[in-house]
Amino acid sequence: MDFSIPEETQVMLKRVRKLMDDEVLPVEREYLGKNFLDALPALNRVRQKVRDAGLWLPQIPRQYGGVGLGFMEYAMTCEQLARSPFGNYCFNAQAPDAGNMEILIEFGSEEQKEQWLKPLTSGAIRSCFSMTEPGRAGSNPVHMDTVAVREGDEFVINGHKWFTTSADGAAFVILMAVTNPDAAPHQRASQIIVPTNSPGFERVRNISCMGHAGHDWDSHSEIRYHDVRVPVSNLLGEEGSGFSIAQARLGPGRIHHCMRWIGIAERSFELMCQRAVSRDLAPDDPLANRQTVQNWIAESRAAIDAARFLVLHAAWKIDKVGAKNARVEISSIKFYVARIMMQVVDRAIQTHGALGITDDTVLSTFYRNERGSRIYDGPDEVHRGVVARQVLKEYQL
Ligand SMILES: Cc1cc2nc3c(=O)[nH]c(=O)nc-3n(C[C@H](O)[C@H](O)[C@H](O)COP(=O)(O)OP(=O)(O)OC[C@H]3O[C@@H](n4cnc5c(N)ncnc54)[C@H](O)[C@@H]3O)c2cc1C
Repeated sequence: MDFSIPEETQVMLKRVRKLMDDEVLPVEREYLGKNFLDALPALNRVRQKVRDAGLWLPQIPRQYGGVGLGFMEYAMTCEQLARSPFGNYCFNAQAPDAGNMEILIEFGSEEQKEQWLKPLTSGAIRSCFSMTEPGRAGSNPVHMDTVAVREGDEFVINGHKWFTTSADGAAFVILMAVTNPDAAPHQRASQIIVPTNSPGFERVRNISCMGHAGHDWDSHSEIRYHDVRVPVSNLLGEEGSGFSIAQARLGPGRIHHCMRWIGIAERSFELMCQRAVSRDLAPDDPLANRQTVQNWIAESRAAIDAARFLVLHAAWKIDKVGAKNARVEISSIKFYVARIMMQVVDRAIQTHGALGITDDTVLSTFYRNERGSRIYDGPDEVHRGVVARQVLKEYQL
């Protein structure tokens, strides 16, 4: 396993880091905890600087207007972009658009690419992904009530979804709906493009999460589909292939999620250390003198480094044997890195005292936004189950 980072990747990462420090963090300081729409003009100015620097869409191949970074280069970029909640947005690498771009590139028809991918990659529109339902356990996604029934050359969609991230202001949804109810469980659902201005598409509300309902990209919506009609040509890939499309994205995508979480942990760690040396408990007696804080710093340093090596190893294994054969490594990092991140954010908040729970630092936003990391893309318990079952296979009598 090669741990060296190629020279040109290091140069690129430094450029990303500089843009983050010089352009994104000042916007964060001004707009953190405020209405996302108020931050948009400033964020759009940063987006232009990112384009000018040739770093727009780091995750997307050059033929679609991106930087065309390799899997590992992009993973390391994710760590840098996640240092601010606005980072990914400024580079047009934000969830859920980045995942939807990947789906359109891999499974979209030429017409779908022209109509939806082009404006998505240019930053003219946003999108969202609508799969989880309030009435069904999202951990078992084959259990789904939303249906898309074929009538002539249209699908008629009825259903109830929630936690559709960034639906507020999105131009279209990639919807998971049951199209083939009599097929095997993993072949029942399809992914369908639904324009959000379709008659019958009702965005009920932005769901308040820990006191924050958010606006625009910074939100999660509840949605009802009442007899929404879309042409059959809005189907992505084959009918019944919804899960295999979702799966194709999820495995390698978890490496990027985990690298983002490491970026969040690193930023929180920096803030913890800065506060430890600058906060005096008494004259010339900074918090950093206390062994408890030193323990947090040492434990966090070791844990973040361990988490990063675990993620890089999982990425290396995906490269060598494919995502399917790296299932244990992928599931291990999903629950392990999320936990490490939350521990580091929590210690950083504690080090800041009351300031830590205000919106004067980014820590409270990280704490609120990232608690979901232990739930989405498979809750901790599901991933631990995958790891344990696989390990135990070797011990069967
Ligand atoms: C911040 C955030 C953003 C999201 N964005 C989107 C989005 O854009 N689009 C979308 O469609 N969905 C989205 N989701 C929803 C997410 O995919 C679901 O929350 C997730 O799949 C879990 O489903 P659930 O919430 O219904 O929990 P449930 O399935 O009801 O599970 C509840 C709990 O049960 C336990 N559990 C579940 N399965 C097992 C098991 N096998 N063994 C032991 N214990 C278990 C776990 O502790 C779990 O937390 C988002 C969620 C969050 C938090």
